[in-house]
Amino acid sequence: MKKGIHPEYKKVTVHCACGNTFESASTKDELKVEICSECHPFYTGRQKRVDEGGRVDKFKKKYGIQ
Ligand SMILES: [Zn+2]
Repeated sequence: MKKGIHPEYKKVTVHCACGNTFESASTKDELKVEICSECHPFYTGRQKRVDEGGRVDKFKKKYGIQ
């Protein structure tokens, strides 16, 4: 293993489009993202509700309920 091949990761402040900022590790000095844990559907629960709805639809189809 040669030394100096891997970029050095440092602590950066990530700026999200929703206005949230959080710290992460990156080789860059600053990071901008369009979605974060504060506004991502997976974390806000929107995606979870969609999944549950899909399961209900499958249940209804399986038993012929419309
Ligand atoms: Zn965000």
